[in-house]
Amino acid sequence: MEEKKQIEAIEEIVRRNLEVIGEDTNREGLLKTPHRVARSMLALTSGYNQDPVQVLNSAKFAETSNKMVIVKDIEFYSLCEHHILPFFGKAHIAYIPNGYIVGLSKIPRVVNVFSHRLQVQERLTREICQCIQDTLNARGVMVVLEAQHLCMQMRGVEKQGAITVTREYTGDFAEDPALRQEFFDMIRS
Ligand SMILES: [Zn+2]
Repeated sequence: MEEKKQIEAIEEIVRRNLEVIGEDTNREGLLKTPHRVARSMLALTSGYNQDPVQVLNSAKFAETSNKMVIVKDIEFYSLCEHHILPFFGKAHIAYIPNGYIVGLSKIPRVVNVFSHRLQVQERLTREICQCIQDTLNARGVMVVLEAQHLCMQMRGVEKQGAITVTREYTGDFAEDPALRQEFFDMIRS
């Protein structure tokens, strides 16, 4: 669907939604709200239109080093697919090259592509890990995500500040617990 049509369709739904909860959609503060929500929703789900494999391939270089590369403290923001509420936190990523390295800025960009889709934290972690593994044919990849979920904090159990930690690993990281430990030591230092 073209963007203009998407925006109009979401505006209509948001307007109706506001009416259902008892709001007056004609009051000044809400007049442009449906439009803002529509644009915001499209921006926050822009990852559907981006190809993370292409992001990595655009800066993939032959390299003989086979030492662990770590990019840590990557801020991310995503939307949980169960409540369409934000979850956000930090991603830490390591890979062990196997003939190829990737431009370092591409790692956060891959996180960005996958996080700008409706997600659950577990799948987000796995998709990032698998994408880097497959595209770089790495000796191993490990991804740790630490996140707060507003659907937990604003409603339901209301556990303020609880952090959910997920991890995925492949290849050498799966075979060697010492490598996983080295990664954990690095992200905590
Ligand atoms: Zn949720």
